[in-house]
Amino acid sequence: MRVVVLGGGIIGTASAWFLRRDGHEVTLVERQPAVALETSFANAGQVSASQSEPWANPAAPLKMLQWLGKEDAPLLFRPSADLQQWLWGLQFLFHCTPASTRSNLRACLRLALHGRKTLQELRRELGLEYDQLERGILHFYDDPAQFEAAKATAAVMRELGCDRRAVSAQQAIEIEPALAPMREKIAGADYCAEDESGDILKFTQQLARHAEARGVRMLFNHLTTRVLTSGGRANRVEVVTPDGWHEYLEADAVVVALGSYSRELLLPLGVHLPLYPGKGYSATFEIVDPARAPTVSVTDDGQKVAVTRLGNRLRIAGTAELSGFSRDLNPARCAMLTRRVRELFPDACDYDKPRYWTGLRPMTPSNVPLMGRTRVPNLYVNTGHGTLGWTMGAGAGQIIADLVAGRKPAVELRAVR
Ligand SMILES: Cc1cc2nc3c(=O)[nH]c(=O)nc-3n(C[C@H](O)[C@H](O)[C@H](O)COP(=O)(O)OP(=O)(O)OC[C@H]3O[C@@H](n4cnc5c(N)ncnc54)[C@H](O)[C@@H]3O)c2cc1C
Repeated sequence: MRVVVLGGGIIGTASAWFLRRDGHEVTLVERQPAVALETSFANAGQVSASQSEPWANPAAPLKMLQWLGKEDAPLLFRPSADLQQWLWGLQFLFHCTPASTRSNLRACLRLALHGRKTLQELRRELGLEYDQLERGILHFYDDPAQFEAAKATAAVMRELGCDRRAVSAQQAIEIEPALAPMREKIAGADYCAEDESGDILKFTQQLARHAEARGVRMLFNHLTTRVLTSGGRANRVEVVTPDGWHEYLEADAVVVALGSYSRELLLPLGVHLPLYPGKGYSATFEIVDPARAPTVSVTDDGQKVAVTRLGNRLRIAGTAELSGFSRDLNPARCAMLTRRVRELFPDACDYDKPRYWTGLRPMTPSNVPLMGRTRVPNLYVNTGHGTLGWTMGAGAGQIIADLVAGRKPAVELRAVR
């Protein structure tokens, strides 16, 4: 089959790889000059099944209200006149019930565990090197109440096969000695030894090179403008070429993996995806004292940020702003990241030379991604992986290849409406 994959982030690239492995004639269309230059560029680097709790949970509404208007709040809803933002917000509230949170946690965790396993298999098979560290993820709490509440989540995760365990502050320091300066502030932590970390950009670009070597046609600097249908099936994709011409790509199947931009492309076809961009930030620093920089990837629950070592760099990332598609830097958020990483790991890096970045997580209100066939039978979506796109990415590629081939995917999926 001729399969056109739209979008060259981690999701589109992994989809193209697995589709090609099934023997399809695959074309990947990406508006940037290479893969992974948008949301899959400088994220927190955590391959973290243990962080599968959805943002929509019973505690979220009150916290979001308290954070309203605070420029450096971990999660900031910036109300606008955009109807889609309000609809998304209402659906998010609907998912904050205990029952919905439990069900969404289960769905996300299954996909995350499958993603982590598939990523490890790909790494072994292709010999990928991306500053990966297999040292686990340590999630620490400064609030004893949050630490207690997290124990219940950890128990559910263990039931579902994710070995996330509560550890004392002392044990946390033994797992990651670079956290010693924070000893007095840590109430407790969760540790998942099987989670890992690594650079999504390096991984995705290497995977793309392997995909190209195996015959995937990469169309970079090509903007997708439309998917056309005939007789109820998607049969052509309209693109604008680097020199400005409109061209059509013939297709037997189309996979839409445009991250936050997937919704807009599909609206004319009557496919309404509950998707909104969740803007996040990162700051990356050169390490000057390796002994003071962590090797275990660390999540700081109080500030909702993660710190990951990527070779000789240290990156802090996190926060979310629901404020549309702007990727402008907010100085208050940048300053918060630099201040916090300096507090956590003093003198580990040259903190005077930050490299800032923002990216738009493709967020669904439930946190559960949108993967599967749409009302147009040969048009598939693979998006909405939100906070866990790096963790789920490789597995998401494999799942979409299964669906296109008509095979039962390795993970049970919710219906995509
Ligand atoms: C601050 C931050 C920290 C994060 N940390 C983690 C983490 O630690 N662990 C984790 O698992 N996940 C993390 N994530 C989430 C993860 O990075 C994303 O879920 C993932 O990168 C999304 O990948 P994607 O392929 O869906 O989207 P993208 O990477 O955005 O790919 C979509 C592609 O489509 C292209 N495109 C869009 N429109 C068009 C068009 N019209 N024509 C052609 N091309 C187009 C874009 O250029 C882009 O390359 C983080 C995200 C952020 C922002």
